[in-house]
Amino acid sequence: MLNFELYNPTNLIFGKGQIEKLSTLVPKDAKILLAYGGGSIFQNGIHEQVIKNLKGFDIVEFGGIEPNPHFETLMKAVEVIKKEKITFILAVGGGSVIDGVKFISAAVNFDGNPIDILQKRLLIKENAMPFGTVLTLPATGSEMNSGAVVTITETQEKLAFGGSAMFPQFSICDPTVIASLPKRQLQNGVVDAYTHVMEQYLTYPHEGYLQDRIAEGILQTLIEVGPKVVENPTDYALASNFMWSCTMALNGLIQKGVPSDWATHMIGHELTALYGIDHARTLAIIGPSLYEVMFDTKKEKLAQYGRRIFGLTGSDDKVAKEAIDKTVEFFHTMGMDTKLSQYIEDYSKTADFIVNRFDKRGWKGLGEKQLITLDKVKSIVEMSY
Ligand code: NAP
Ligand code: FE
Repeated sequence: MLNFELYNPTNLIFGKGQIEKLSTLVPKDAKILLAYGGGSIFQNGIHEQVIKNLKGFDIVEFGGIEPNPHFETLMKAVEVIKKEKITFILAVGGGSVIDGVKFISAAVNFDGNPIDILQKRLLIKENAMPFGTVLTLPATGSEMNSGAVVTITETQEKLAFGGSAMFPQFSICDPTVIASLPKRQLQNGVVDAYTHVMEQYLTYPHEGYLQDRIAEGILQTLIEVGPKVVENPTDYALASNFMWSCTMALNGLIQKGVPSDWATHMIGHELTALYGIDHARTLAIIGPSLYEVMFDTKKEKLAQYGRRIFGLTGSDDKVAKEAIDKTVEFFHTMGMDTKLSQYIEDYSKTADFIVNRFDKRGWKGLGEKQLITLDKVKSIVEMSY
């Protein structure tokens, strides 16, 4: 196992009715920026609940953070914070609003041009404005991790950043909030979380036996509850297990002591930046092709995955191949199309475009051992057409 440090300061408050604790979690005397997205929180009553439980606090609202949050929009929030002398940010939304708030938090006191946080992938370890979250969409794990992804619309780039100052101080996870989620977003949540686990589990060399068992538990739970929660999001047992699985998939725990891949995400981000395809759907397009192209290095782990998750039997080769098919089958069950041509008509230049872009950024090798070189990236994207 690799050496590791486990640091996660986020106070996670999980369960029905937990939004009532909000006033005890926000620092006393805080002047709050209440940040949200396109307005779903007004339709499902979450805005009302938040306001009710923040009586007495001075609040300024900032709405309009879009899915795959835009740098340009977030910089407007930074201006509001400076003008209004805000001291605390509350994100109420899904991964996009939470990631957006992480960027705002990092940008407010940043010495220099905040676009560098993204383009130079700076580590944010200090000087961030404190923030908390009320999660409305289980998927990303952003409520309990220190990463974020922001899109620069001007350059059509979707870039990740993070750092130890990017953990939320607290996150309220009330599973009943998923009742109002459209089916498409519930499906996305399951597949995003599933792929987060795969990025940390399907790596080599990987000597985290316990991490494996936890990862497999999350995958099995997502397979068990995923198809059902999409049909029945008001079932509390399903909703709570779905939400907790998504948090556990990317709160750092299963990543400790093992290498992680993240190439599916890196390539997937390009498909969102170029074509606006939902984040989770880009992962369903890229993931299976990546497992095929990187078959030799991932075969052993794929075989373990096939045996333990799907109960497959036979040689490593056979089980590993079938495990990829089973994964695609699961993504189909979750309503995903898994080929790029099912989303866009003009896809033929995508691989070259992405490879060229990675090359310019100096990204010569992705994955746990940088073995996903640019020729491999090209094959992965072309296989996903
Ligand atoms: P999202 O983009 O935050 O939200 C998708 C849509 O769902 C929005 O239209 C949103 O509406 C709506 N919605 C949210 N909660 C709702 C509710 N309770 N009822 C009805 N509608 C609701 O989706 P996401 O999948 O959570 O986040 C995706 C982003 O996170 C991507 O940019 C992705 O790259 C990033 N990501 C981050 C991490 C990380 O670790 N930080 C990991 C993976 C992915 P409103 O706009 O009205 O809220
Ligand atoms: Fe993701």
